[in-house]
This record gives sequence, C-alpha cells and structure tokens, in this order.
Amino acid sequence: MTNFHELGLSKNIVATVAAIGYETPTPIQVKGIPVVLSGRDLIGLAQTGTGKTAAFGLPLIEMLLANPTRPDNRTTRTLILAPTRELVNQIGDNLRAFIKKTPLRVNQVVGGASIGKQQLQLEKGTDILVATPGRLLDLIARNAISLRAVTYLVLDEADQMLDLGFIHDLRKISKMVPAKRQTLLFSATMPKAIADLAASFLTDPVKVEVSPPGKAADKVEQYVHFVAGQNAKTEMLKKILTDNPDGRSIVFLRTKHGAEKLMKHLDITGFSVASIHGNKSQGQRERALKGFRDGEIRTLIATDVAARGIDIPAVSHVFNYDLPEVPDAYVHRIGRTARAGRDGIAIAFCGPDEGRLLRDVERLMGIDIPVASGEAPSNLARPARPQRRGGGGGGGNNRNHQGQAQGRPDGRKKHDGEGRPAGEGRPAGKPGHRKGGNGGAGRPANAHGKPSGRPGGNQQRSNRRREA
Ligand code: AMP
Repeated sequence: MTNFHELGLSKNIVATVAAIGYETPTPIQVKGIPVVLSGRDLIGLAQTGTGKTAAFGLPLIEMLLANPTRPDNRTTRTLILAPTRELVNQIGDNLRAFIKKTPLRVNQVVGGASIGKQQLQLEKGTDILVATPGRLLDLIARNAISLRAVTYLVLDEADQMLDLGFIHDLRKISKMVPAKRQTLLFSATMPKAIADLAASFLTDPVKVEVSPPGKAADKVEQYVHFVAGQNAKTEMLKKILTDNPDGRSIVFLRTKHGAEKLMKHLDITGFSVASIHGNKSQGQRERALKGFRDGEIRTLIATDVAARGIDIPAVSHVFNYDLPEVPDAYVHRIGRTARAGRDGIAIAFCGPDEGRLLRDVERLMGIDIPVASGEAPSNLARPARPQRRGGGGGGGNNRNHQGQAQGRPDGRKKHDGEGRPAGEGRPAGKPGHRKGGNGGAGRPANAHGKPSGRPGGNQQRSNRRREA
C-alpha cells in the first residue's frame, strides 16, 4: 500500500498529515500528488468527498516551501477558485491545518463578508489565496490584489462554477494570471463545457480519474419514493427523520422560498432544523453550518447554491425533496453523505411532475434507483423493473434492484447483520404495518416502519394518500 512519503512528500508534511489523522492516501491523492509534484497540469475527475483538497493542497504546499521567496505585498503565489463561500472556507480551513508549522500564509476571500477587512489581509502578500471568482474580481478592481505572481492556479468544482454562471469571471481571471503557471482543474463531472474550459486553461494536462464521472460515491445507498405531491413529501420526510433520531440530514429543495417554508414548518412541528440558501446572510449561513457541524442541528434545509462542497462527515442522509433540474446536481447533493469512508443514504422524493427529472438523473448515473415506495408516474418508463405491477398495494412495493433496497428503504443505516441499528429496541416484525405492503418480509417496505411518537395521523394520512 502506498503511503504519503512514497508519493514524494517531505517528512514534515507527512508528519502533519499523520497528526491530522490521514494515514493512507486516498486514490485521488495516490494518482494526483505525483502529477502535481512533477509540475504538469492536471485534470482531476473525482467525486466529492474523495480527498481532493489534500490531493492538490499537499503538493502545492510542498512546492511553495521548496521555493521560499516571500510574496510581494498585494500578490499571491497560488490562486484557488471555488464556486461558493462555504467551499472556499472549507478549503481554507483544510489548508490552514496543512500549513501549521510553516511560514506560509493562506487567505480566503468570499462575498458577503467585509471587503475592507479582506483588503487588509491581502496587503502583506499571500502564498495561497482561496477565493470565489466574484469577490476576487471586486478586490482586483480595488487594487487590493494582483494576480501577476500566480504560479499555481486551481479551479475546484469546475462544473459547479460553470453551472453557477462563473464562466465570464473565469475568462477575465484567466487573462490576468501569467501564462507561465501550473494549472489544476477538478470536477466531479466532465460535460463538454468543462472539456472546453480545460482546453483553454490547461496545457497538455494529465487526466486523473478516480471513478467514472457522474457516478455517486459508491457507498451511498439510494432510494426513491414516488409521492402524490408536496404535502406527501413533507409527511414522508418527517416520518423518516423521526425514525432516524440519530441521523444527520441535508434536505435539498429547488427554491429558496420552498426551503424556508419547509424549514419553518419542521421547526414549529418540533424538528431540529436550520436553512441555508441564497437569501440568508453570510453570518446566518455560517451559524447554520456551525450548528449542523456541531450536531446541535440535526437537519439542514438547503438549496444547491448554498450547499455545494459542504464536508461534514457525520451526514448520514441526503434528501432530494425536490429533484434537481440539472441532473449533475443530484450527484453533488448525494456526495454530501458517505464522506471520509462512511456510509450514507440518499432518498429522493419524486412527485407526479418530476418523472422526467428522475429519468435524467438515472441516465446520467447509469442506474435505476431502487423504489422504496409509491408508483412511478406513467411518463416515467422504467423497463428494467418488470415486477412493478405485481406488488401488494401502494405503499409496499419495495421493488429493489440487486436486492439493494430490500429491508432498508426507509432511510435507516445498516449497522449490523440484521440491517437494523443496534439499540432501537423495536420488534423486528412490526405486524401492525403489514397492511401497507410487503407481507412477511420482516420489515415494511415503505417508510412507515416505526411509530413516530407523534399521533399516528401522519402515518395513516400518508398511507391513505398513496393508496388513493
Ligand atoms: P475532500 O474531498 O477534500 O473534501 O475530503 C473529504 C474528507 O476526507 C475530508 O473530511 C478530509 O479531511 C478527509 N480526508 C482527505 N484525505 C484523507 C486521507 N488520506 N485519510 C483520511 N481522511 C482524509
């Protein structure tokens, strides 16, 4: 097995990563670190949560330390661009842990925070600047920073930067960085637009791929519930959250308004929630993330814009409350779970008008997502599931593929051989719930396996809805 030293990193850096708790390099690190150290441009096709930040961060730090020139005032030697404030902050925090005990300076600049303060931070000269493209351009316009000394350029989550409309900003920035530089581009997916971007930004790059683009992290178990509409989604969500009191969930919606409304509803019905979306101030977003990271908040309601790149290893469940318009977003969303070697569960709700969106996601990923409950809308042709017609009743059709969904369509994680979290203290058979569907399978196939502790109305209501 390869270790960090064999990848070409020096003793000091190896000691630092060991202190952080990284013992074995991840695949993107094994493949990427030697390429970066060799000075070549790199395209890294890696899923979120694969250890990308260290894959580029560690060798860059190594190279910066090998050339100890101090940066001039208001310049930076390395520029890392990322699509969102949260991601910039996360990368900055990671890098800061890596540069402990070195003289290097890391700065990060994002919109929504005081530009004057950022301007002051940049005054002294920076070794590694992590930035969102918009705020960087604002600072350049104020002469707070020049890119003339950039030797290393990193475009992280490049596909998201394009999705969020940063292409013009990126073009502008590309004209300001010296032609003689090393460029690294990371993306979870590789649509044509990214290939075009790479062609214009990179020179003879080495392509490193740790898993096929568009595939979700292998460890994410995925399910879809077909539901009658928004109310049914909310009831189903509440049920699953209640059934998983120890879980930590991110719930994705398409709109800020929808996210806020759902957050308020869950809040007044007693759930531990916060929301994070574009209408929230930077301070509110940071507080929500911190509460969620610290475990004070169990469920985060998010839109895509706010949630890119969030790295919180304890996330056990990702809900696609609304399926995304852009199928790539699904891959990013579910990449919020199963991080750092853990398991994770991704549950999608598909309303009557969302069949096309589900089909797009399944096409992109090359899989059929196992059905946990409900009936597929008629416009969603899913020929790989001939047995769909044969099930017993609306709620019970856990028609799985490769046996995956059997027994765990309700969002519980597998903990032991029984596929049931230890200590839940529930009877295995739950005969009271057989009505919904799968007869003697031991667990009900829908998400109604466990009395919620709330009046039984939720459950009965949503069962009825599906049977209707
Ligand atoms: P990233 O893809 O950079 O967001 O990293 C995902 C998570 O994996 C982060 O929590 C990292 O701290 C963690 N991580 C990265 N590299 C390693 C490693 N070699 N060993 C253990 N954890 C790692």
